[in-house]
Amino acid sequence: MKKVVFFTDSKKLDEALDNFYIKSFSGKSVPVKLHMGELKNKHFVKPDFTKVVVYALKKVGAKPYLFDTTVSYSGKRHTVEGYKEVTKIHGFTYRNIGCKVVIDDTGVMVNVEGRDFEVADHIFNATHIFALTHVKGHVATGLGGAIKSFGMGGVTKETKKKMHHGSRPVYKKDACTYCAVCSEVCPFEAIEVNEDSWNLDTTECFGCGVCIENCKNQGLKHKDADIQFVLACAAKACLQDKNAIYFNDINRIARGCDCDPEAGPIICPDIGYLVSDDPVAIDKASLDLIYDIKPGVFEKINKVNPFKQIKFSEEIGLGSTSYQLIKL
Ligand code: SF4
Ligand code: SF4
Repeated sequence: MKKVVFFTDSKKLDEALDNFYIKSFSGKSVPVKLHMGELKNKHFVKPDFTKVVVYALKKVGAKPYLFDTTVSYSGKRHTVEGYKEVTKIHGFTYRNIGCKVVIDDTGVMVNVEGRDFEVADHIFNATHIFALTHVKGHVATGLGGAIKSFGMGGVTKETKKKMHHGSRPVYKKDACTYCAVCSEVCPFEAIEVNEDSWNLDTTECFGCGVCIENCKNQGLKHKDADIQFVLACAAKACLQDKNAIYFNDINRIARGCDCDPEAGPIICPDIGYLVSDDPVAIDKASLDLIYDIKPGVFEKINKVNPFKQIKFSEEIGLGSTSYQLIKL
């Protein structure tokens, strides 16, 4: 059966939510999973819009609060205190949005597909979750949507680090032709290739796996697994057995993620908003809508196939790529 994805605008949010048993959220403490933006990033979901979602949840008797985790790289959002400061700077205050903001980095181990992921306590303990996600490009995964919001944003810093480390390249000397493509595509200038030598600067490598994806000679393999596969597994660790509603904001579509202060240019015109109860269907629909206007834009700009996370997610049972788009 096809999953339903509603294509809507903010004025019809209530109507869209009514189709997904929003009333079951009544009386529940509901984390609204939201990336509240890196300092200097301009494209994250804004407080004015977040307020509309919070109001819709309160209207059915839910007790929403905004939630996110700290990041593994250095910067203000590396710590709970630092991230809280950023949320205030970006306007996510009780006064502006009508609910509290929680940043946390404690978690519970969940095993999916033979791998352990430390899922944030607030996600693990919730029975009902609302996902408010800004859709944009991403340097490591091509696309940042609902799957990524949980696959990376729903787990602790330690798990984030482990996922990136496992996606680093392992060099296979016998297969390498020293073509230097890996070096050219590396967004972090972590690879140096000379006539007969290949070197990785592990202090610069972010574990995005772009070099591996672009080596056509099987000269590189992942230390553990493709980051888009572990992303799908981690998202499943967060979301399995939950009542969740997903809301994708497909506007201000930049090259890079909301965690990037220099997220780069807008690469596609604004599209609108999608609502669904399936994270795979909503991300697939988001990508399809973007590619209808700008075919292949994320592969071209980030050198990564963003559909892999969707394919892997479906294969491990997180959701379905088969959807029906209904315009409200
Ligand atoms: S892209 Fe592959 S073959 Fe070319 S230099 Fe890098 S590892 Fe070697
Ligand atoms: S994994 Fe990413 S950051 Fe590391 S060397 Fe490859 S392309 Fe560069």
